[in-house]
Amino acid sequence: SHRVKLGPLVAAIDQGTSSTRFLVFNSKTAELLSHHQVEIKQSFPKEGWVEEDPKEILQSVYECMERTCEKLTQLNIDISNIKAIGVTNQRETTLVWDKETGEPLYNAIVWLDLRTQSTVERLINKTPGRNKNHLKHKTGLPISTYFSAVKLRWLMDNVDKVHEAIVSHRAMFGTIDSWLIWCLTGGKSGGVHCTDVTNASRTMLFNIHTMDWDPELCDYFGIPMEILPRVRSSSEIYGLMKICSSRKSGALSGIPISGCLGDQSAALVGQMCFQDGQAKNTYGTGCFLLLNTGAKPVMSDHGLLTTVAYKLGRDKPAVYALEGSVAIAGAVVRWLQDNLGIIGSSEELEKLAASVGTSYGCYFVPAFSGLYAPYWEPSARGIICGLTQFTNKSHVAFAALEAVCFQTREILDAMNQDSGIPLSQLQVDGGMTSNRLLMQLQADILCIPVVKPSMPETTALGAAMAAGAAEGVSVWSLSPDDLSEVTSEKFEPQINPEESELRYARWKKAVQKSMNWET
Ligand code: ADP
Repeated sequence: SHRVKLGPLVAAIDQGTSSTRFLVFNSKTAELLSHHQVEIKQSFPKEGWVEEDPKEILQSVYECMERTCEKLTQLNIDISNIKAIGVTNQRETTLVWDKETGEPLYNAIVWLDLRTQSTVERLINKTPGRNKNHLKHKTGLPISTYFSAVKLRWLMDNVDKVHEAIVSHRAMFGTIDSWLIWCLTGGKSGGVHCTDVTNASRTMLFNIHTMDWDPELCDYFGIPMEILPRVRSSSEIYGLMKICSSRKSGALSGIPISGCLGDQSAALVGQMCFQDGQAKNTYGTGCFLLLNTGAKPVMSDHGLLTTVAYKLGRDKPAVYALEGSVAIAGAVVRWLQDNLGIIGSSEELEKLAASVGTSYGCYFVPAFSGLYAPYWEPSARGIICGLTQFTNKSHVAFAALEAVCFQTREILDAMNQDSGIPLSQLQVDGGMTSNRLLMQLQADILCIPVVKPSMPETTALGAAMAAGAAEGVSVWSLSPDDLSEVTSEKFEPQINPEESELRYARWKKAVQKSMNWET
């Protein structure tokens, strides 16, 4: 039996770009009791296209639930101790399904996908002064391939089934949170079609001031409002789990789903960044630095996004964040493995890079999906430069790790300029932070300490906290005192700032070379 007395338990579904996880936490201690993880296939059907199968995503959630329930049973932990379930998800990824059959009408178009580049360029060309920030006053976002509205528009224009379902009023649009919550609360027999404010704020159809869908934005993109999910807060009971009792996870039936946050918001909550001025950086497929700016949305002058950080209850205020989004971080590791074959697994990267300890003047700008913040340049493409006869795969591996650090440095610089208060240290999390060389390089390149919590699943923790704190559940109080015993590891800068600046200046030159590649 378990060594400490268990408080109520709270579970989280963490549906990321590269994998799905189901995790169970003790709400008294925030301890992770058990979890299971399943990889998700990504398909690249054409250059620049990135898709995932919504049914595979749903199946992966069921599988993670089944296996976690088995593990809990083995630990003698009663599944009926789970009082709530939270959902956190890859943001912006877009799908449309038929509410009568429950079937997706096309694959999910993943946030990284570039198929809408020409549409985006056309939209920007039509704005006064070719201004990509034309809709920023309402959305906090530049017009970009990144956000859901253009992906949804593409589905309406190019997939007959989507068009027909809209005409016959059978279509439902959703990001991954909406799809999962709809399916898990009953799907075609009474599923709840909703999303939370953080996910909605990434669609470009949501007004971050009124906190609702904006009819003018929907009109601008030609999106019928009836296909949109209802927007709810990030912490309230949306519905109850309905799972057939023949499954092992059938024991989860009837548990409220009461937390929903986009992954980056969930990580902000899980890192306890509840104060104005607190920030975290998450290194997953991409890399996302979010700074809590409190009750007012702050508009960036330096290429950052303004986004809804969280709204933890129907009657609670919305809290906003400035965000620096980097499209490619862990994805470059996957690329080195799958496309170049110079590593056999992501863990091997650290050893390979550490064997040389320098890129030897090689710079790698992984602009595979154009460049996001602070440039927002869809026409940028990846480059590896500074090569000599001496360069080998270890140097390229090192340059790939450095690229993640330099991109974060650019975001941090923009953030410091926008907020006027430089961050004195950086809180980090995400799959890539298990790479200790990366963490040390990051401290060196930022010239500030990098602090990593010893419990790495902060995204899931944030979703569990939101679910456990919801009205009607109330097993988790959102006070930082609860986590006062959180332990962490600190990486201090070890190189002198002049060397750091020199390398950063070269990086910036390399970035310039990656831009306007196609013109
Ligand atoms: P996501 O939430 O986007 O699915 P995760 O936070 O799960 O991402 O992190 C997975 C990413 O981290 C993958 O792209 C993987 O290549 C990368 N990664 C995992 N372990 C390492 C490592 N030791 N070194 C470098 N990259 C890693």
